[in-house]
Amino acid sequence: MSLFLFRYIIIVYPINYTVFIVSNARLPESCRRSAPPIFNKENPMQHYHQFFINGQFVTPHGKETLDLFSPVDNQHVAQVTLGDETDTQRAVAAAKAAQKSFADSTPAQRAAYLQSFKRALEHRKSDLVEAMIEEYGGVRVFVEPLIEGAIADVQTMIDLLESYPFERRVGSSLVCLQPVGVVGVVIPWNASNLFICGKISAAIAAGCASVIKPSELSARQTQVMMECFAAADLPAGLVNVVNGLGNVVGNEITRHPDIAKITFTGSTNVGKTIARGAVESMKRVTLELGGKSPNVILDDADLAQVLPQAVGAAYMNSGQACVAATRLLVPQSKLAEVNAIVKATVEQAFQPGNPSDAKVMVGPAVSRSQYERVQEYIRIGIEDDGAELLTGGLGKPTGLEAGNFSKATVFTNVGNNMRIAQEEIFGPVLCIIPYQDEADAVAIANDTAYGLAAYVSSASRERALAVAAKLDAGQVKINNPFAHDNQAPFGGMKQSGIGREYGEFGISAYLEPKAIVG
Ligand code: NAD
Repeated sequence: MSLFLFRYIIIVYPINYTVFIVSNARLPESCRRSAPPIFNKENPMQHYHQFFINGQFVTPHGKETLDLFSPVDNQHVAQVTLGDETDTQRAVAAAKAAQKSFADSTPAQRAAYLQSFKRALEHRKSDLVEAMIEEYGGVRVFVEPLIEGAIADVQTMIDLLESYPFERRVGSSLVCLQPVGVVGVVIPWNASNLFICGKISAAIAAGCASVIKPSELSARQTQVMMECFAAADLPAGLVNVVNGLGNVVGNEITRHPDIAKITFTGSTNVGKTIARGAVESMKRVTLELGGKSPNVILDDADLAQVLPQAVGAAYMNSGQACVAATRLLVPQSKLAEVNAIVKATVEQAFQPGNPSDAKVMVGPAVSRSQYERVQEYIRIGIEDDGAELLTGGLGKPTGLEAGNFSKATVFTNVGNNMRIAQEEIFGPVLCIIPYQDEADAVAIANDTAYGLAAYVSSASRERALAVAAKLDAGQVKINNPFAHDNQAPFGGMKQSGIGREYGEFGISAYLEPKAIVG
């Protein structure tokens, strides 16, 4: 997954800590044919009552519906039909049939399908962006580059297919890497279509058909994506999508014997449930789970430069990012200076607002219940942990009372054993944690159940590299929290997951090695 503002340049002016974002991305426009669009941006009330199975939009067997509300004002804006076990079984059957012929496809054929998918995405780029802003309140400055990144991930797979060694010599043997089989894709709401693009492009590159279960909160984003699949004119059954609840559709994917692998992005608890269920039929699993990522600021770093970036990294996607740098580790001797800069940065440049506004850096939570969860953690920080509140706090920002907005909140002088420092909050809450020396910083950074991402800043690249080598995280970014390489493996250590995605590591997660010996 690549939740990064990598095609945008963040320019930070240290004098007033204002953050400007400048786009440099450009992609061509073209699309072969359009599916009948159900998604209609002119219509304020949307009904999402179809799934994409076997290359067709189909009426679900499931009859239950779920109401969806705008995160900005809690108006009832949409209704989605929830799939059931029968819908899931139909999708699995379609994928199983497609898998038979697709397993024998050539890399060049798969690259052509991915090209077609990429053209469809490019054609619907603005709809993909607007769906994220309106459905879960993703801020424009985050979601525009994110959709560019999703398209770039598809291109990376196309490029890799030119040279990926599906057959290798090992010793005196031939090792053939064959598709693992039908893949179940289960994903969260916080960057739904980014995850779909990353996982589906790797699955197609490897020769796998799939069944996707997006979050029940992502119906609008999913609708646009289903229309992209239809427009891409992929072989029937290669990609199937069923909306529904985790304990129904997700559970059926986990249980179904014709699914060979599950790739899951979401919370650690649900990841464990899926892994437990998957072992029954010996499914392969890739689990991209939660995080509580440390951002280590070494004592030689230019605070005026790195701290505004650090706030941006903590409040990425309004704090609703698995890689959000929510633990800011700073030298004890510089705590007062850090506090002053972070407080000014947050109060001047990170005040919550309408996510559609290009200047807004922090938007609402996806739902009322997620808002309440964030509020509960702010309460825990103040009352139970006794942490020092630097800015923000309980309640909604003035003028934004109708939506799911929390105040941009910073606790300082936080102990790493406090709950707000150990548990994933998934909202705009930053913990500043002081350390004594470099060894103490590394110990605190690693003192967490998670190990997804970590960040280090130093005036010396060598020092930053030396500290990065000691951090237990699947990806460590040095001297730029928004650095990105979409060929680099991404995934978590410890409770942050199992396996890696993206680039060569991403394809290999959908392949089974078979050794031909003798
Ligand atoms: P979630 O775990 O509640 O849900 C994720 C998906 O799993 C949803 O589609 C849900 O319907 C489904 N699900 C729920 N119960 C299920 C079950 N019993 N069986 C099968 N599927 C089930 O997560 P969320 O609240 O949607 O998203 C937030 C979480 O996702 C956070 O913990 C965040 O850190 C994590 N996340 C991780 C990454 C990563 O790459 N590591 C990226 C983004 C988000």
